[in-house]
Amino acid sequence: TVQDPHQHSTGSEESLAVAGVYRSCYDTLRPVGKGAFGFVRLAQRKSDKQLVVVKFLRKSGVLKDCWVHDRDMGLVAQEISLLARLNHPNIVMLLEAYENECYFQLVMEKHGDGLDLFEFIERCPKITEPLVSYMFRQVVAGLSYLHGKNILHRDVKDENIIMNEHFHMKLIDFGSAAYMEPGKLFHTFCGTLEYCSPEVLLGNSYPGPELEMWALGVTLYTLVFGENPFFDVEETISGHLQPPYFTSPGLMKVLLWLLHPHPKSRATLKDLERDRWTNQEVDISQFSFESVLGCAVTRPTDDKMFHSPKPHPHKDKPHPLSDDIHDIDRLLDTK
Ligand code: ADP
Ligand code: MG
Ligand code: MG
Repeated sequence: TVQDPHQHSTGSEESLAVAGVYRSCYDTLRPVGKGAFGFVRLAQRKSDKQLVVVKFLRKSGVLKDCWVHDRDMGLVAQEISLLARLNHPNIVMLLEAYENECYFQLVMEKHGDGLDLFEFIERCPKITEPLVSYMFRQVVAGLSYLHGKNILHRDVKDENIIMNEHFHMKLIDFGSAAYMEPGKLFHTFCGTLEYCSPEVLLGNSYPGPELEMWALGVTLYTLVFGENPFFDVEETISGHLQPPYFTSPGLMKVLLWLLHPHPKSRATLKDLERDRWTNQEVDISQFSFESVLGCAVTRPTDDKMFHSPKPHPHKDKPHPLSDDIHDIDRLLDTK
């Protein structure tokens, strides 16, 4: 391994990660999140003190199929090449990318304080449906832009969505993304099991968009109810939803539509762009981040709340809705 004489006590992996041209341009500060194949840090550009977020991607962790020859950057992880070509308000912006022998360093815009949607949900936010619709429609917009470029994200979930104090949402983590091609089917699942659709769990080959919509449905459900819609693979395949309480019919329709067991009947992005609930009027200035989260910095110490392990636990309890929502298609007919 490369020895870095300027680093001390932060561990050799960390000094390995920051080594190279990147380190001459940025000071690496505190951790922001923890990824599977790397780590994410707040950093500061030396030239103008600009704060950024840097994802360190260990080259040995990048799967064989995930390397591409980029016109401008040469052989890089596809995640970098893809992100460099995206430009949308609901997708994180890649500012620069560096590399050394063992790591890529993805320098991204700092958006908010590094709060992702998983942590937001974990803090038991006091949300209302207009606010949820406002957050949701931005994820829809980001995905529509991506799909318009024939790109699937393939790992849509709360952890891969970041937000700021104005409830401005951005998609991150393009490590599982892939291009769609006419007639092309995927044969393996590479996302997060809790977000996998029944038809893919059953081993079918799949074109992609319908799986993405299912994952979006799981994400919306989790945001609304603070728990996962399905307890395990069996429950996902059975497709029986048991929401813990009533929502408006408009929201229930969107949830059932996205979590429709049959991919052909599932909501599409186009459906959502036209959907009344999703696009309801909302005055976002009415919502302050502090009041929604109880407090901006410290976790609430209410004894109803606890630090839940990932994923958000599914509260296993009977509820009055199961019969009413049993006939999904009948409900969706009222759209
Ligand atoms: P992995 O591919 O290992 O899941 P991610 O790209 O999802 O890595 O990053 C891991 C975590 O780091 C995210 O869940 C999020 O909390 C945080 N994170 C990543 N990128 C940013 C960013 N640009 N701004 C703020 N937080 C980020
Ligand atoms: Mg991630
Ligand atoms: Mg990833």
